[in-house]
Amino acid sequence: MEFEPVIGLEIHAELQTKSKMFCACPVVDPTEAEPNIAVCPVCAGMPGVLPVVNQKAVEYAIRVALALNCEIAPTSIFARKNYFYPDLHKGYQISQYEQPLAVNGSLKIFTSKGEKTIRIRRVHMEEDTGKLTHVMKNGHSHSLVDLNRAGVPLLEIVSEPDLRSAEEVRAYAQTLRSILRYLGVNSGDMQKGVMRIEPNVSVRPVGSETFGTRTEIKNLNSFRALERSVDYEIRRQIERIRQGKPVIQQTLGWDESRGETVPQRSKEDAHDYRYFPEPDLPPLVVEPAWIEEIRASLPELPYAKVQRFRQQYGLSEYDADVLVAEPAVADYYEQAVNAAPDTTPKMVANWLSGELFSLLNQSLLPIEEIRVSPQSFGRLLQMVTQGKINQNTAKAVLEEMFNTGKEAQDIVSERGLSQISDADYIASLVSQTLDQHPEQVSTYLKGKETVSRWLFGQVMRLSRGQANPHVVQQELDRQLAALKEASH
Ligand code: ADP
Ligand code: ZN
Ligand code: MG
Repeated sequence: MEFEPVIGLEIHAELQTKSKMFCACPVVDPTEAEPNIAVCPVCAGMPGVLPVVNQKAVEYAIRVALALNCEIAPTSIFARKNYFYPDLHKGYQISQYEQPLAVNGSLKIFTSKGEKTIRIRRVHMEEDTGKLTHVMKNGHSHSLVDLNRAGVPLLEIVSEPDLRSAEEVRAYAQTLRSILRYLGVNSGDMQKGVMRIEPNVSVRPVGSETFGTRTEIKNLNSFRALERSVDYEIRRQIERIRQGKPVIQQTLGWDESRGETVPQRSKEDAHDYRYFPEPDLPPLVVEPAWIEEIRASLPELPYAKVQRFRQQYGLSEYDADVLVAEPAVADYYEQAVNAAPDTTPKMVANWLSGELFSLLNQSLLPIEEIRVSPQSFGRLLQMVTQGKINQNTAKAVLEEMFNTGKEAQDIVSERGLSQISDADYIASLVSQTLDQHPEQVSTYLKGKETVSRWLFGQVMRLSRGQANPHVVQQELDRQLAALKEASH
């Protein structure tokens, strides 16, 4: 029997406002701030304090909901979700339950199978919890509580169970991350825990209309862990069913080193939380005019940008997708294209996603922080297009630009790297080369034509890499043809 995976995602994304969701404490960088420096009686859960909604967080949430094509509720309700955990000092989390901020959205994803629309069930606002760190000291284990994160605005984005493979799951999560970054509401810094993913996975016989029992994998914070854990879980469930064992509905963790999902607790139901409306907060009413104002201020989003890049620059969907994923990369690309008027946009795309990306990866720098401006990058490519330097020289020049911040033009003239296209000079290089390698020439004349590649390399070497390769190729072909003619 063949099985089909069914997956729905719950994604928690922090809204990176200046202050927290219900108090004036700052939202601080978890990797930089000392523990417990951004805490007040409200977010520490002291009795008798009053929460006040952060308007900016609501605006950010509406931005996301609109970008996901959701219907925004004119009135939504904050609720208390009651549970005990050492990092939850209040004993409850303020969330939204029965009346969330937004419902019925959609998100388009691209995979190797093409485009697909995934339905979004709901988008609601809540607050983040504190963070526990477990340490060993003097042979005893301790748990340390940091409340810097307690009360940071959090958005929960829940999809319908429309995903059918680990590849789709990854594409969905990556597209969503990209949108959050475009909207400027979340850095997308997964290692810092600002975006956490929880896939719900089930399988069913192909052709079946009903869903199988699902498991939920908690708190994944990398795409690699997401893809691996979903793949693992699909295989585990199929195997159990084949063995005649039921899939148990439960919450699982992902053990990265063993590459396995591990049971955490049996699944609690909503009624365990005893949700009730938060008595200290009035219903959240959003005016239609405000929604329209926010809608009008939305930037061009990844999907629209991919379509525009394909049209305007003649790029393939794949190329456009690679450039558009990061807003800063897309901006860099467009500025470079403008600075290189004779160069095809396709060539700029290739150099950006090839040579420049590999320098970025080696240096681990984000594109905003590199010393090569998009204009300098464009001017470098112009020099190639205009035949002033060849491709290989340009690669070396780019590396030097990257390391020193110098202009291509300056590096080329300082180091005498200009490409040589002078026909007479190249003709003399070719005939010198043929004179120096009579054996290879005679092998060539006996019919082993691949030797001409090797001879081409020798001519380029003689020119210290600076000869125009097109002129060299033409001249080499011409002289070899003449020799062949003469040998008949
Ligand atoms: P909760 O996990 O809080 O109970 P829901 O019941 O709303 O929340 O479901 C959460 C997620 O699980 C949603 O993304 C939904 O699409 C997904 N889901 C629901 N049923 C299944 C199923 N049988 N298989 C896979 N995913 C499912
Ligand atoms: Zn506070
Ligand atoms: Mg859940």
